[in-house]
Amino acid sequence: MDNTFTAAPPVPYWKCSACGYVLQAPEPPERCPSCNRTCEFRDVSCYAPECNFKGIDPRLG
Ligand SMILES: [Zn+2]
Repeated sequence: MDNTFTAAPPVPYWKCSACGYVLQAPEPPERCPSCNRTCEFRDVSCYAPECNFKGIDPRLG
């Protein structure tokens, strides 16, 4: 029996540096769906234990 559980990595949150749009995706999109620009996306996922990898870190936004 294989009882090994493969923990899925948390899907990060990305925030558009131009308009502040936040989306959750494995990879940042090439083009922001909100402002339609090829802007830089910042990883704003909260990796702190208190967030349990499920939220956005307000300190990073
Ligand atoms: Zn944008």
